[in-house]
Amino acid sequence: MASVWSGYLMFGLISMPVRLFPAARSKVIPFHMVHRPDHVRIKTPLYCPKDQRIVERSEIVKGFAAVQLVDTASRAHL
Ligand SMILES: [Zn+2]
Repeated sequence: MASVWSGYLMFGLISMPVRLFPAARSKVIPFHMVHRPDHVRIKTPLYCPKDQRIVERSEIVKGFAAVQLVDTASRAHL
């Protein structure tokens, strides 16, 4: 299947090549939910395993916000 986008994710000094493929059932990219202060992935669905407590919606950001998306073709930050 041809990817619809390729580039890489940057985590500080570490980059990870990625390609996006068209989803069969959904147009929503399933980024994980992470706790904003520590970026630990939220479980079931609003629980932070590090803090071992239920967190409020206001404490949660999408994991997308923790990284930069860089487009390979244009080298532009999205
Ligand atoms: Zn936490």
